[in-house]
Amino acid sequence: MSLAPITGHAAVRAQLSDAVTSGRLPQVLLVTGPRGVGKQRLGLWLAQLLLCEAGGTEPCGRCKGCAQVLGLVHPDLHWFVPVPSPKGDADKQLEEAAAMLEAVMAERRQSPLWTSPDGMSSHTLASARLVQRHASLTSVAGGWRVFIIGGADRLVPQESSPAAANSLLKLLEEPPQRSLFVLTATEPGLVLATIRSRSMPLRLGRLADEEVRTFLATAKPELATDRVVASAGGSIGLAIATGGAAGTTAGAAADEFLNAVAAGPAQAAERVLRQSTWAARGEFTALLDALANRLADRAKRVLVPGTRVPSGNAPGLLAGVERVLVARERAQGNVNPQLLLAVLADELAALEAV
Ligand SMILES: [Zn+2]
Repeated sequence: MSLAPITGHAAVRAQLSDAVTSGRLPQVLLVTGPRGVGKQRLGLWLAQLLLCEAGGTEPCGRCKGCAQVLGLVHPDLHWFVPVPSPKGDADKQLEEAAAMLEAVMAERRQSPLWTSPDGMSSHTLASARLVQRHASLTSVAGGWRVFIIGGADRLVPQESSPAAANSLLKLLEEPPQRSLFVLTATEPGLVLATIRSRSMPLRLGRLADEEVRTFLATAKPELATDRVVASAGGSIGLAIATGGAAGTTAGAAADEFLNAVAAGPAQAAERVLRQSTWAARGEFTALLDALANRLADRAKRVLVPGTRVPSGNAPGLLAGVERVLVARERAQGNVNPQLLLAVLADELAALEAV
């Protein structure tokens, strides 16, 4: 699958396009701005512009270069994102980081709407070495080479190996000819000062609501609603990650989950996949608390005489409450929320609790 079309930031794009045309594009850019407004997508657009064979002021979208960038398979496009810390000795770490990165890219080729990596991921020494390794190669297509380093605010200081850190800095100080480095960061203050000082800053603002809506209407039509657009606050990433759940209460999210489970495995799976994997722990436990309350409430209405009773399976509901509480306990550890919800959806369905 191809990347979804770039949205917004027209003025910045025009500025970059002019810089390319006039041959004055700085070789190291630090793109900053709120989460989910398209910082890395802008980097990919710029890669497409440089690698497009038509050579216009906008990428043509039809040539081989464009197709390869949009399919994330261009041999001169190198995209680095934070990954979990690799283990083992230095060489083993390098291979493991490369494999993890390739796995992320394989996933993005399949499903090119990405959300932020989880909070534990970073650019370690191994990732820095990987960037250097790729940078030491020559261009495959004979033109530009583009290096996108997403989440550059997660580049960990490398006191343990100043030599490697220094050679990365040297790379940014004197980039090889016809190579572009696009670093992106949500928290510019966390980017190493030595990197900030070597890059040209470019700030992206929030998108207009209409831009978010237009994007969703094409790429994720089920999310193109007023509620999702309003709660996204100008961030496509947030709209995708939360499916608009950020603006709803935990109770509404719990109802939505129970309705999805009741509707069948496909709907439940769809809801589970919309659970963001990096949401604040508090937000996820609030959802589980609300779920337990909802189930207990339903059980009470079944069991207490005289209440208006909808049909319901009280033992199943009470067993369901227990399963939710177990999940809540596990949510305190380092467990993927999607996995927990998937298990819970199966259990609740099996118990006929909903
Ligand atoms: Zn093209």
